[in-house]
Amino acid sequence: MSDEKSGKKTPMCKVGKSGDLERIKRRVRDAKFVCTKCGRVARDRAYLCKPAEI
Ligand SMILES: [Zn+2]
Repeated sequence: MSDEKSGKKTPMCKVGKSGDLERIKRRVRDAKFVCTKCGRVARDRAYLCKPAEI
């Protein structure tokens, strides 16, 4: 039921709150997008709530 447990794409903002640093580190590697709302970065726009290309 939970996206986090099933391993699906949870927005970085929510992952950050859960403190899953290893998952975050994999997602920010080779980042191509930045969240204009929170300032987080990720390689897939699906991980961000307000993605914009870097
Ligand atoms: Zn965000």
